[in-house]
Amino acid sequence: MVTKSVLLLSGGLDSVVLAHKLVRSRQQPRCLHFDLGRPSSLAELHFAKKTAAELGLPLEVVDMKGLFRMVLGYMPLEDAIADEWDCPEPVPEVFPISAIPTLLSVALYYAQLTRARTVYIAELREQARPTTRRLHKQLSATTGLADPSYPRASIAAPFLGHKKPAVVSMGHTLKVSLVDTWSCFTSSITHCGGCAGCRGRRAAFQAAAIRDHTKYAA
Ligand SMILES: [Zn+2]
Repeated sequence: MVTKSVLLLSGGLDSVVLAHKLVRSRQQPRCLHFDLGRPSSLAELHFAKKTAAELGLPLEVVDMKGLFRMVLGYMPLEDAIADEWDCPEPVPEVFPISAIPTLLSVALYYAQLTRARTVYIAELREQARPTTRRLHKQLSATTGLADPSYPRASIAAPFLGHKKPAVVSMGHTLKVSLVDTWSCFTSSITHCGGCAGCRGRRAAFQAAAIRDHTKYAA
């Protein structure tokens, strides 16, 4: 029997590889894509839709542009447009405020609506905070407290033990078209090559010793 699940599918490399991995393990998750209205949102949506269509998975697009606009003015613009889901840089000692708990809460709500028992998120080891696993457990428990008559969904982050080069290798082994994923923080239609997202993507392919077919503008 296929267990009902939800996958947070941004259209970035990590979530696309996780989508393929779940399908290979005979799961058919419902994909949830958050449109945050950032410069990179159009490209991310493009690859999220492409992935869902290719794998035959249902895709729900949630308009969260207001959330991004709320953030503006309260942190440096370069931090606001950066995709923390696909962040290549090591997490600093003083953590920036993260939108991930908010987005996971929405995903858990969606899991309740669709009776899914697991919410998958492609967080990586370099994105993890010391409290990440505890956060996942407590968010799930809190949602259960609010609506105890509904089945409780848990949060699964199967890439938390992996760094990005390992996910590139995994995608390569699964024959995922990694070129059909997005890492750039800009609104360009090709990867800019210079932003932190592009730098991390390039470095991950290099570290994995896998040829990067991504077209970079520079
Ligand atoms: Zn870029």
